[in-house]
Amino acid sequence: MSGLLHVDAADVAIARHMPRYDAVSVPLAEAAGRILRQPIHAGHDHPPFDRVMMDGIAVHWCEPLPRAFAIAGQQFAGTTGTTLDANRDSCIEIATGAMLPDGCDCVIPIEQLRREGGRYLLMDDCQPRRGQFVHPRGSDCVAGSELLETGMRLGAPEMAVLASNGFANVEVAATPSIAILSTGDELLAVDAQEQQAGSIRRSNDIAIATALRLHGFDRVVCEHVGDDRVETEAMIGRLLAAHDVLILSGGVSKGQRDHVPAALQAHGVERVFHGIAQRPGKPMWFGIGPRGQAVFALPGNPVSALVCTIRYVRPALLAAQGASRSLSGSAVLAEAVETSDTLTIFVPARLHIDGDGRQIATAVPTRTSGDFTALPRSDCVVELPVAGTRLPAGHVVAFHEW
Ligand code: AMP
Ligand code: MG
Repeated sequence: MSGLLHVDAADVAIARHMPRYDAVSVPLAEAAGRILRQPIHAGHDHPPFDRVMMDGIAVHWCEPLPRAFAIAGQQFAGTTGTTLDANRDSCIEIATGAMLPDGCDCVIPIEQLRREGGRYLLMDDCQPRRGQFVHPRGSDCVAGSELLETGMRLGAPEMAVLASNGFANVEVAATPSIAILSTGDELLAVDAQEQQAGSIRRSNDIAIATALRLHGFDRVVCEHVGDDRVETEAMIGRLLAAHDVLILSGGVSKGQRDHVPAALQAHGVERVFHGIAQRPGKPMWFGIGPRGQAVFALPGNPVSALVCTIRYVRPALLAAQGASRSLSGSAVLAEAVETSDTLTIFVPARLHIDGDGRQIATAVPTRTSGDFTALPRSDCVVELPVAGTRLPAGHVVAFHEW
């Protein structure tokens, strides 16, 4: 199809024009969910000392091991300085998390002991081994090991690693300020009480915002403008002045009242492309504003708007932040599907793992190409390449998570 970019060419064009967002240093608590922009090395051995793993007693192991131990001292979590003397019949009372007392190399859990006055007796079936229930210093990792890589998203485990290594501040990707502009005279606010004839409540802005917010883009504002050239231009001017990213929905096709491309160009937004050989989402427009703002103008059809968001907008923003993990993957088709000889086709699908551990994608039937009420039953869209043939069940295709 002349004038339309192949999906891969659209990816390349977007990647070539996207900025790279700065790294910023933030307090640890504010780093949750963000993209790490520095490698993290262990500041010390983990664990930093021979760590006791059970509540009970610590002894010096020998053979044969005595069956009774006199209590010679205590060393609970957070304390140090207790030493077991050479007497092999004595023990130190310890707790999980304590530093193993000097002179000890074996921990016997409280459940295997009976206390009798100032002594502990081993239960009959208790057969301790040297080194048991001791978590040796540096056995998880040694000081200097790389624990986190640039580009990781900071989830719960990563935050624990940062905290335990003393990172009170951490370098993460800056979050761009994003404006989402819905265009269309027919669009009502969510709280519009009665649906007027010819009108619908707008849903693309909240859907696009959610696809972004759930992946860390929390600086998002939503605006609406009718199909008026002057108002559209004024609104675009205000948003370009205040934001790093502009996402528009609707008004991007060839209709008489589709003012978006002209209004963008009037503000000096350089068009990179207009039109991708795909269904849905063919009229998608992408350009770069005068301050380097990324501008994505998406078709208004709710399925198109959302597919374009997860297929192009969100990956572009994540790449600009330096994120290493993508929300796309590959899956095996559950059933045969038809492809087009000119267009890449996106089909909503459910994912599951079969008995052989393969990720299987099953298409979710939609009544029309714009049926967004069916999407909640799907997990993703699968991307059917331009082939012009029927892809058999078992064929591997790319998918993109909602
Ligand atoms: P357009 O791309 O402006 O021609 O719009 C295509 C279709 O999408 C029309 O049926 C619009 O009513 C619908 N549409 C446009 N914007 C939105 C929106 N924000 N929320 C829901 N539907 C929309
Ligand atoms: Mg419209």
